[in-house]
Amino acid sequence: MIMRRFLTLMVFLSSVLTLCAQDVKEIQFSDKKYEYGVGKDSISLFLKVLDSDGNRSTDVTANDLDKYLVIYEDGKIIASDRRNIQELSSGQRIPSDFTFSVLVDLSIPEEGKDQIYETIGNLIASAPDSCVYLSFFGDEVTRSEVVTRQNYADFRSRFQRSSDNKFFYGAIYSKLAEFSSTKAAFEDSVKVEADYRKNVDIIDRARINKDKNILCVFTEGNIRPEDEAISFVEVTEYEANVVPKVYAFYYTGNGIDENVELTLQGVTTPRDADGSILRERQGAYSPSENLRSVLINFEEVVKDAMYDYAFTYRATDDKVYAGRVDYKAEWKGEDRGTGSYSIGAVENPWPVHEESAGDSVIKYLVALLVTLLTIGLFFAVVKILIPLIKQRRFSMKYYKKYEPVANVQRRTCYFCKQEILPGQLIVTKCKHIMHVHCWQQNGYKCSEYGQNCKTGIQDHIDWNELFTKSSLRDCYQTITGILAGLLSWIVYELLGRSIFTSLAESIVNMCFFNEAQRVNLYETCVTKVSAFLTIGFVLGFFLSLMFRFNDEYRDKNWKVYLKILGLSLLSAVIGMLAFALGAAILCVLLSAINTTYIPWYCSFPAYLLFSVCLSLSLTIKSSIPMKSALIGGLCSAVIGFIVLYFSSFSSSKYGWMSMLLDFVIYGGGLGASLVTVRMLAEKYFLVIQNGIKAGQRIPIHKWMNATGGGNKVSIGITGECEIQMNWEKSNKVAKEHAQLFIDHAKTLPVIKPLATGVIYNTRVELPVGKTTILSNGDTFKIGDTIFQYMEMD
Ligand SMILES: [Zn+2]
Ligand SMILES: [Zn+2]
Repeated sequence: MIMRRFLTLMVFLSSVLTLCAQDVKEIQFSDKKYEYGVGKDSISLFLKVLDSDGNRSTDVTANDLDKYLVIYEDGKIIASDRRNIQELSSGQRIPSDFTFSVLVDLSIPEEGKDQIYETIGNLIASAPDSCVYLSFFGDEVTRSEVVTRQNYADFRSRFQRSSDNKFFYGAIYSKLAEFSSTKAAFEDSVKVEADYRKNVDIIDRARINKDKNILCVFTEGNIRPEDEAISFVEVTEYEANVVPKVYAFYYTGNGIDENVELTLQGVTTPRDADGSILRERQGAYSPSENLRSVLINFEEVVKDAMYDYAFTYRATDDKVYAGRVDYKAEWKGEDRGTGSYSIGAVENPWPVHEESAGDSVIKYLVALLVTLLTIGLFFAVVKILIPLIKQRRFSMKYYKKYEPVANVQRRTCYFCKQEILPGQLIVTKCKHIMHVHCWQQNGYKCSEYGQNCKTGIQDHIDWNELFTKSSLRDCYQTITGILAGLLSWIVYELLGRSIFTSLAESIVNMCFFNEAQRVNLYETCVTKVSAFLTIGFVLGFFLSLMFRFNDEYRDKNWKVYLKILGLSLLSAVIGMLAFALGAAILCVLLSAINTTYIPWYCSFPAYLLFSVCLSLSLTIKSSIPMKSALIGGLCSAVIGFIVLYFSSFSSSKYGWMSMLLDFVIYGGGLGASLVTVRMLAEKYFLVIQNGIKAGQRIPIHKWMNATGGGNKVSIGITGECEIQMNWEKSNKVAKEHAQLFIDHAKTLPVIKPLATGVIYNTRVELPVGKTTILSNGDTFKIGDTIFQYMEMD
C-alpha cells in the first residue's frame, strides 16, 4: 500500500517535472542552410526553443524535440525517418545580430596569445562577417577592426607584438564607450594609437540590437597597469552607461594584480546609481591560472550566443525547391511557430541531381517536344485564335437583318444583283450592301473592294491556306524566337545555370544593406543573381544572333557574319548589365522589405529591365522600330515571367521546365511582336513603266523590311543610291532625288522627295522634304522615268 502510494507520488512528481521541463511557448525559426552541388540534398533549419517568458528553455533536450516536435513543410509533415535533430555546440552558427568586441592584452605570454588567436578563429568561423571586432592594448590602445574569414590570417602578426606598458583602464574605458553613440567624458584621455578612431559600425549595430553586444577582455595579472588619467574610479563610474555585457578572461598564471581584478569584477557586474546590479547587463568574470580554462570559458560565452538546435532533413526525390517554402512547428500537437525561407530559385532549382546520359537524352527530347508544342501554340494563337476573334467581332458588328425604310426605294445586292428582301442577313461594313452569303462567297469582302471600296473586307480564316508554306512563313520570326529560346536554354543548362558567381557576390555585397537579414539570404541571393547574369548573357546573345542572322538580306560574307556576331555579343553584354542592375534592385528591395525569403515581385523588375534593354539593343543597326520593340519586349517579358513564377512543376524530373518555358515563350513573343512591320514590307515592288527598262520589277522590300538592312530606299543618279537611275539620259535627276521608307507610326510605306520635280500620279508635284503615303498602284515620275508602286502577294 505504502509502496503503491509512493509509486503514484513518484509518477505524479515526474509528470509535473516533465511538464515544468517542457515549458515551450515558441519554436523560433532563426536561420536555414542548404548547399548547391550534386548529391547535396539536406536542409538545416536552426531553431530556438523559448519558454513563456521569452527566454531560452534550457531543460529541453534534443530527445524531447525528437519526441514532441513536428515540423510541416508547405503543409506536409516532415517524416521522422528523414529528419535529424541536433543540439548545437560550438563550431556551429552565431546569429548575425550579435556583436563581439574582443580586446587582447599584449602582455599575455607569447604562447597564450597564440592560443587566443586560434580560439578567436573558431568564433570567426561560426559567426557571420561583420560580427567580430578585434583590438589590442599595451603601449597604446588600437582601434577596433572587423575580423572576417578572409582577413583573419592578417591578424596573426598583431598578436605577436609585445609591449612594455599596459594602458589597461583606458583600453577598457574606450572599448565600453565604443558601443555608445554619446561621447564619454574621458574618451580623449585614453592613450591611443596614432590614427585611432571609434568604429561606427559597432555603434550602429548596438543601436539596432541592444541586448546582443558582448565585450570580451583577455588580460593577465603579471604586469601592473600604468598610471593613467583614467583609473579604476572613472571606469567603474561609467558602469551605469555600459551597453555591452562584459566577459573578462583573466589569466593569473604569472601573477595577480588587485587593481585589474577589482576593475574586471566591476565592469562585468555593472550597477546603477543606487548600487543595485543591472541584471540584463551582467557578464562574467572568469579568472584562471590555467590558459586552457581561460579559453574554455571564452568558448562557453560564444556558445551561449548560438542557436540551440539544428533540425536537418533530407529532400525527398519527388520534390524540387524553387523559391519560398513555409514552415510550421508543432509542439505536442499545438502550433508553436512559423517561418518562411527561400530554398533554391526558380532560375536554379534545388537540389541538383546527378544525371545519367539516358536522363539527359530524355530531358532534351522533352524540351524539344515542349518547344514544338510552343510553336504549335503560337501558330494557333496568331493564325486561328486572333483571326477568329476578329471575324466574330466583325460579324456581330456588321451582319444585320435588312429592314426596309419607308419611302426608300428597294435595294439590290452588289454581288448577285438581286433584290434584298426584309429579314435577309446583310453586311453593312461599307455602302455596297451585300447578302451575307454573297459576301462570304466573294471571299469575305465587298465586290467593289480594291476599286471603289477601301474598307469592305473582313478578317477570316482560310482553312485551305492555313497549313501552306506561305502561312508558315508569316510565323517565321516567331519560330526563330522560340528556337533561339530553346538554344539559349540548352546552353544555360550546359553551363550549370550560373557562371558569374564572383560578379554576383560583388553585386550582393554592394547592394544588400540589411545586415540582419543578410546572413540568411546571402547565398540564395548570390545564386539567383548569378543565374540572372547568365540568363542575360545567354538569352541576349542567342536571340540577337538568330533574329539578326535570319533577317540579314544581303549575301552573307565573312564581314556580315562578323557584324552579326559582334552585335550579338553587344546584346549579350547589354542583357547582362540589365540583369545586373535588376539584381541590384532585387537586393535593395529585399533589404527594404526585410523578409526571410525572396518574394516573387523582387525579381520582376530585373526581368522587365532585361527585356526592355534587350529589345532596345535589337533596334541597333536594324530597322526594328523602337516602339514595337518596347511593347513587344514588355508583353513577352510579362507573360514569360508569369509562366516562370506561377507554373509549378513540382516533380523533380521537370524542375527545369519553368525556365525552358520562360525562354521559349519570351523568344516567341518577342519574335511575334517584331514581325508586323516586316510583313507589310514584304509585298512592296517598284515597276518601271517606260523607257528602256520598262517592265522591270524592283523588289524594294529588300531594303524596306522590318529587320536588318535598313529601312530606306533612295533613288538618284549616284551609285550610293539603292536604285541608281543610270539609264536616265536627262539631267533632271538629282544625286539623291527621293527616298522611300516605312513610316513606323503608321506602318505604311511613304515617299519623301529630296529635290523638286517628283510628279505624283501624273498630276501633282510633291513638296520637297514632306512625306506622302504610297498606295497600291500609285505612280511617281522622277526625271523621265515613271515608277509604279505595287503591292503584291
Ligand atoms: Zn446577293
Ligand atoms: Zn464596299
